[in-house]
Amino acid sequence: MPVGGLTFTPRQRITSWREIARRGRDGEDTAPLRAGYDHDAIDTCAGCGLCALACPVGIETGRLVKAQRGERLGALANRIGRAVAANYGPCRSACGRGSPVRTCCTRRWAARR
Ligand code: SF4
Repeated sequence: MPVGGLTFTPRQRITSWREIARRGRDGEDTAPLRAGYDHDAIDTCAGCGLCALACPVGIETGRLVKAQRGERLGALANRIGRAVAANYGPCRSACGRGSPVRTCCTRRWAARR
């Protein structure tokens, strides 16, 4: 949900995306709209799905945003994401406290700072 003008409302996300799609179909330049949309609609959506509760017909705009985030990633990232989702339990255990994976990631993250 929008907070102090930081982000679009779910309805704004849908109407903006519809306009970008229309312009794309009509051969118009979508880059200026797309640049704003990426931040105001995609990057600032929490993906929480609460919009479906407030929407009178149950539209969950977060699903659109999650699909668009997936489109921005490459094929490899999508394959890895699907594999992790399909094996969430083992992956979560592998990344739990004290696991070698978590220790390695934590060290790499700390080294970057
Ligand atoms: S998923 Fe959450 S943050 Fe994204 S549009 Fe819906 S309510 Fe707003």
